[in-house]
Amino acid sequence: MNEIASSSGGEFYTPLPPGYKPGKTKYVVVTGSVISGVGKGTISSSLCKLLQDRGMKVEPIKLEAYLNIDSGTLNPFRHGEVFVLDDGSETDLDLGTYERALDKNLSGENFVTSGKIYQHIIEKERAGKYLGRDVQFIPHVTGEIKLVLRDLAVKTRADVIVIEIGGTVGDYENMFALEALRELKYEEGAENVCFTNITYILEPNCLGEQKSKAAQLGIKRLLEMGIQPQVIICRSQSPLKESIREKMSLYLNLTRENVFGVHDVSNIYSLPLKLREKGFDEAILKELGIEKKYKANGNKALKEWTRETSVHGKAKPVVVAIAGKYTGSSDAYISILKALEHCSFRLNRPVKVKWIDTTDLEGKKDALKKQMEGVDGVIVPGGFGTRGIEGKIAVAKHCRENNIPYLGLCLGFQILLIEFARNVLDLKEANSTEFDAKTKDPVICLLPEQREIEGLGGNMRLGGRDVELKEGTMAFKLHANAKKIRRRFRHRFECNPEYIERFEKAGVVFSGKAPNVPIMQILEIPKHKFMMASQFHPELTSRPLHPDELFLEFVKKAAE
Ligand code: GLN
Repeated sequence: MNEIASSSGGEFYTPLPPGYKPGKTKYVVVTGSVISGVGKGTISSSLCKLLQDRGMKVEPIKLEAYLNIDSGTLNPFRHGEVFVLDDGSETDLDLGTYERALDKNLSGENFVTSGKIYQHIIEKERAGKYLGRDVQFIPHVTGEIKLVLRDLAVKTRADVIVIEIGGTVGDYENMFALEALRELKYEEGAENVCFTNITYILEPNCLGEQKSKAAQLGIKRLLEMGIQPQVIICRSQSPLKESIREKMSLYLNLTRENVFGVHDVSNIYSLPLKLREKGFDEAILKELGIEKKYKANGNKALKEWTRETSVHGKAKPVVVAIAGKYTGSSDAYISILKALEHCSFRLNRPVKVKWIDTTDLEGKKDALKKQMEGVDGVIVPGGFGTRGIEGKIAVAKHCRENNIPYLGLCLGFQILLIEFARNVLDLKEANSTEFDAKTKDPVICLLPEQREIEGLGGNMRLGGRDVELKEGTMAFKLHANAKKIRRRFRHRFECNPEYIERFEKAGVVFSGKAPNVPIMQILEIPKHKFMMASQFHPELTSRPLHPDELFLEFVKKAAE
């Protein structure tokens, strides 16, 4: 790294990674204004898909403003699910959106928090890398941000990097990221960086018309910082009025052709094609001067994708209950909802989700029965901590005794074993040491590697691992007789090896195991219509056109 040269003299601190060639990689910056939560991630991932469709090698990167090093310690109820990548990074749910849109695995380098940036800087400061200079927000924090972007460019040899900035412009927290990107454009040359903004057009009921003032003021924050957005998307409830497009164009200095309207759509899978038809990706490539180099090869592939990612006809929905504790926030289980959606495309059968809050079930038998009315299958998702656990065990028991399809994910795997131990093996006090440290029958216990660990950040059994499938089992069959698959994990506890034999004798088949260590990773109960669970999270690797195998069989059985 040539950071020494650049930090010794003037005001600039722009370390370039070895092998970096300015101009080789283009950058598209996606910012938001007015309000968050109107689909910045969805639009940005659709853009990635459109650029990929043109034959470009696309790398998304999310710059998240918070000071946590990663998303691993965040409460899913507040922040949505923690999405685990193959390399074990614990990231924001947007990375899941990108992986599913691009149908490829991303790495920790595609996700950078302010915490991670500051950590790099503090480490360098302690190592004496700044050679006597005072370390400042400008140029050092901004320099570090540019460095992670250029690092990604070199490592991935991307044609284009799509940078999504968390939050909205005007937030104190992302100021430095925006300043870094302003500098990036200055350094890389105007034709190599394109700024876009996703804004929101209000349409108050009391007025019954669209109003653009908030959007104008929101985007002006970018202008104040020396950033001219070149392409904007106006999100709105109903189609964008032409007069609003005119105003946005006039007051914000951009051509009318570069102001796009995207109103609420029910099917987000149709968004890439819609954006293509409006000319969104074309406009961006024109700004970058590469619209001729990367021509769209017709819209055939996108049309096919749109057709394949919808449910045709009017089949009766399959009702799947998700029995968890964050049922008030669908973002907390977003990958599970997506995996179910992927199955519905494949089976051409809508899936309707019913939320069962297991905290409400504890000690109430009738409540459970009532909740289970009309339910075709149950998923017990991942989770941590004691709240709602007894309710989940009651749900598992109900499914086992009434032959209702059950799919357990991570914690749901452990719950099924606890239930089975209590009610089939007759170990009445069986539990996980996570919920009762002194239980007489710890059928679920800490993984050996977890016993010495302190603190909670980034130290679980995390990321992609091999799972060996046992020949002749359901799991083996569902995965096309593969001997080995790779899935993503995020746990501290496991099935206690001392109980394995007893479980097997009573009818549990451990059909997936870790190579070389006795960690059970898939279980099935063949006597049952469908009772399977995995210690991994299959929902994280399900893709729109390749639904996860366990999910698919579960929905099929639930639909019967
Ligand atoms: N709490 C359990 C464990 O740590 C399950 C984790 C999960 O569901 N992701 O093993």
